This record gives sequence, structure tokens and C-alpha cells, in this order.
Amino acid sequence: MAKKKFKTEVSQLLNLLIHSLYSHSEIFMRELISNSSDALDRLKYLTLTDEALKKLDFDPRIDIRINGAGENTLVIEDNGIGMNDVDLADALGTIARSGTKNFMDKLTGDAKKDSNLIGKFGVGFYSCFMVSDEVEVISRKAGEDSAWKWTSDGNSGFSIDGAERDGQGTTVILHLNDAGKEYDSQWQVKSIIKKYSDHIAFPIHLHWSETTGKDDEKKTEEKEEQVNAASALWKRPKSELKDEDYNEFYKTIAHDTDEPMLRIHTRAEGTIEYTTLFFIPKNAPFDMFQADYKPGVKLYVKRVFITDDEKELLPVYLRFVRGVIDSEDLPLNVSREILQQNKVMAKIRDASVKKILSEIQNYSEDEARYADFVDQYNRPLKEGLYSDWTHREDLLALVRYKSTSVEGWTSLKAYKDRMPEDQKSIYYLVGDNEDALRKSPLLAAYKEKGYEVLLMTDEVDEIVTPMIGPFEEMELKAINRSGSLDDLKTEGDKKKEKDAEPVLKKIKKVLGDAVKDVVASARLSDSPSALVTDDGDPSAQMRQMLQAMGQKDIPEATFILEVNPDHPVVKGLADAGDEQLADDVSHLLFEQALLVEGVALKDPVAFAERLNRVAAKAL
Ligand code: ADP
Repeated sequence: MAKKKFKTEVSQLLNLLIHSLYSHSEIFMRELISNSSDALDRLKYLTLTDEALKKLDFDPRIDIRINGAGENTLVIEDNGIGMNDVDLADALGTIARSGTKNFMDKLTGDAKKDSNLIGKFGVGFYSCFMVSDEVEVISRKAGEDSAWKWTSDGNSGFSIDGAERDGQGTTVILHLNDAGKEYDSQWQVKSIIKKYSDHIAFPIHLHWSETTGKDDEKKTEEKEEQVNAASALWKRPKSELKDEDYNEFYKTIAHDTDEPMLRIHTRAEGTIEYTTLFFIPKNAPFDMFQADYKPGVKLYVKRVFITDDEKELLPVYLRFVRGVIDSEDLPLNVSREILQQNKVMAKIRDASVKKILSEIQNYSEDEARYADFVDQYNRPLKEGLYSDWTHREDLLALVRYKSTSVEGWTSLKAYKDRMPEDQKSIYYLVGDNEDALRKSPLLAAYKEKGYEVLLMTDEVDEIVTPMIGPFEEMELKAINRSGSLDDLKTEGDKKKEKDAEPVLKKIKKVLGDAVKDVVASARLSDSPSALVTDDGDPSAQMRQMLQAMGQKDIPEATFILEVNPDHPVVKGLADAGDEQLADDVSHLLFEQALLVEGVALKDPVAFAERLNRVAAKAL
């Protein structure tokens, strides 16, 4: 068969790999063993559920042979599900894993960042090219008669030809390069297999040959030894498991080179029986914000792998969790439809959510440590506030915000504890960047009163926060919404507003339909004007977000212009006799407020003309 070229991402990735990860070249072992283990899992499931494969005599195992295909070779073999020619081209010719494209885009930066990033990303099958000049993969798919051989030097491309193989499964033959030479000693290989696979649920047999005696009496013996315990790690008693055991297991299932931030191992015995082992990665998965993210939790039934592609095992907002659910009470042939309506599954899911949230709660008790968690996962938890009403209380305790009166993150609870007695609501302001929010003219009056304002910059805040409802009986009020004004008004303010009515009318007449209303504001001190939105109308940020999401038919902005009756410009306007000047200044009050909100002016030329007319009169 003609040689095929790799998809561009593959060549790029291979290159990066070889240059940035070779000091950890042994991780190829973890990747290949984990592929074999997945292949065995998949076939085991089919032999229980697929009529055609039920009669297959299947004794799952992995065999690793030192110099198993000639000098300087290492062979990794399984009798799992196998691949045909199409599978080989798909699986080993492209990088199929979702998020890879995104990941590759991130990599085109400075080299140092690259090697750091790549270490955090599972590199999969391709890692074997760190230790090989050439790799052959001979495979036969379960239930099919022909076998195929994929060959590549990891550089120019790959070819696929017909081949021979007894029975189903996959044999990977590595022709070791200089960096891979060390993998010809059984001690070295054995210790690596142990390190990376003690938790693998299938037996791994190591084969090597040993030569004893001298000269004429030299004898070569073939040796074989099962290297791992071959029991599912999550079923082993906690007391037997060390941190390293858990961490290696995590790295295998999460394709991560880092250790996890948090692990949660639970065994439930009672009306329903199950085991769960969950991990939270130190760094959020690359595809966390992609619609086609890959779920991170695998479902097993009595140790038999069922699926790793079921997004309903946990709620979507916990999509960053990695791990395993193993149930004793589900049927082995559970289909996706059954799974989604199954009472046992629903119970496991509920209990798992509760457990995960309570462990995060424990983790949050050390705020410094928790800040790292918040940096990674605050946003998905906020999504949970929107979608998971049952765990609202737990989630409210876990989300964090920036604020006008503390450094770093604050919880709603801590905010409430700091509130002065006369403060009646929790105030917040949403925008897309923290710096701009800190400079917002709307903050002045709150600061004066000693009221803290939460600053929110996550895309979801705009939608989620108004839905949160009261926190411990305190309403959350957006300070760029007109309703939030009332809290701040004193009797004096009210009188001032009354007195300002003529000038408000004047401005309103000039601006016409460009604004919904013009009102006096008690809370602006240094600025003459600011914008607010009526409750129920989309704010400036919301409109921009909808626009960015490609939404058409966004309702026209309906702003309310707040003016500061104490400001010299507004005072001057009240008395101005020059009609052109009054007209210009009214427009400028509105236009500057738009600019502060980051809204583009409809007619910047007219704005410049006005500004110049006014400046000319002042000079
Ligand atoms: P990942 O395992 O994360 O999908 P890999 O690059 O390691 O990424 O493997 C790509 C794909 O190749 C796998 O998803 C699987 O479909 C296939 N594959 C790899 N090794 C084997 C194997 N030993 N048996 C069957 N399929 C395999």
C-alpha cells in the first residue's frame, strides 16, 4: 500500500514530543499498556453483550517481550479488540482526541511554555517514537479474518499492508533507537511496568531470555513472569493503597503527567452497592469549554468496562472530574437509554455529586490552597448554580468572586460577614475585565457608604448571577441595573433629584429615543454621568456577549442615563442659555457614558464635532 502522510498536527506533535519530553521517555510504556488495557476492556464487554462474539474463548492478557522481534526490539502485545486497516489509519494516522487542535494552537508560543504544556497533555501512542526508529503495529480485529500491519518511522508518514496474526488483538513492535537502548534489560523494563501498571486489571506477563554459563556451556533460557497484581485498583482496600498507586492510576486514566489535585475514593454498601474513585486534575482539561469535550469518568459493572463516552454519569458542570464508577447492581448489557433512566444510576450519580462537592468544600477550608482550584474551576461551578438547583447551597458555598474590598477571591459568606449593618443587599457588577470594572464610575457611591461590590468577569456571570436568588436572605443586586439605586437614596438625595427634574427633562428632550430615561443619581461623585439598564433589559455586556456568540436579532440597547446633579457640568447645563451648547453637552454626557461601558459610538464623527465645538467655546 502506498505510503500515507500524517495529518499536519501529528508531525508537529511528534516533533515537539521528541524535543520536550525525552527525559521522561519511559512514559511510552504507560501509554501503550493503557491502550492495551482499553482494548481488553472493550472486547470483554463485547463478549458479554455481542451475540457474534459470545463464543469467543477469551482470556485477556498483555505480553511484553524484550528483544521479542529481534535485537533491539521491544514488543507489547494484547489479545484485545484489535484494529482493521480502516481503524489503523484513523486511530494512528490522526490525532483524534478532542481538544487536540485547541491544544496544538496553544503550543505555538515560546518554547519553554511548550514543554511545560506538553507534559500536561496525554501524548498517547505517538510517545513510542521517542524511543523508536520504527514502529510496527500488527493487528486483527475481533470477529474479522484478516490482519493488518501499520508501519511508520514517525516522521514521513505511515503505510498499511496485509499481515498475518493468530487470533484477535494487537502487537506493537518497537525498533529501539539510541534513546530506547536502555529498554533491553529485564530489570529496567520490569520496574517501569510495575510503576505504570500495577493497577491495570489484566495480567501483564514479561518475557525475556537469560543466558547462563560460560563458553561451551552457555545456555539460553526463555523466562516469563507476571509483573502486576492484575486487580482493579478501585476495588482494593484503601489501607493497601499508597499515594503513588493512586497517582499512577490517575495518570493512566486521565492522560496527565501531573499528580491530581484531589482524589475521592468511596465504597457504598447497602441497598445499592458501588465503588467510585474520582480525581480532580491540577489543571483543567484542555477541552473543558468545548461543546464536544470528552467525558472523564468511566463506567464499569462488576469490574467490566462499559463505557467512557457517557456524559450523563455526572452533571455537565462536573465535566472536569476524572475517574471510575463501578456498580454491582447494573445489568452488564446496560444501554445508553437504560442508563439515562436507570434508578440505580441516578442514585449513584446523586451520591457522587454530593460527595464530590463536600470534598471540594473540605478542600476550600484552606483558602490559599483553594485559590488554585478556583482559578481552574470557578466557572464550571457557576454553571452548576444555573443548572443544578438541588445542590444550590453547596455550590453557593464554593463559588468565589473578586471584590472591591479584598485581594484575591472572596466567598459570598465572607462578603456577608463584612457587610455593615445598614447594608441591605449584596452588590455586584459584571463586565469583561477586572481593571475596567475597578474604574467604573458606578462604584463611587458604594465606596463612600462603605459597601463592598463584587466584580464579576466570567462570561456566565451575566446570566447566572440574576438567577442565584438570595444568599442567606440577601438579594444580589447588579449595580448597573436601575433598581439597585433605591437602596442608596437618602432624604437629601430625594430632594436633590426633585430639584434636578428640569435639567433631566432638558437632556431627555435632546437625546429622545436614544435612551429609555434620564434620571438623577445619588451615587456618582466624580463623573457627571453613567449608564444603567432596566431590570429585564439586556445590559451592555450581555449584548456584547450575545453578539460574540453570533446571535442575531439582539434587542436594541435600552439604556437609562444617570446624571450627577452635583457635577459642575450638569449644574452648568441647568443654567445654560446657549441652545447649541446645551444640546452638545447633553449628547456628550450620554456618549462618554457609552465609552466608559466600552460600547462603540454609532456616530463617532458627530461626537468629535461636538467635543470640538464645546472646547472652542471654553477656550
Ligand atoms: P487514546 O488512547 O488517548 O485515544 P492513542 O494515541 O494512545 O490515544 O491511541 C489512539 C487510538 O488507537 C485509540 O483510541 C484506539 O482506538 C487505538 N489503539 C491504540 N492502541 C490500541 C490497541 N492496543 N488495541 C486496539 N486499539 C488501539
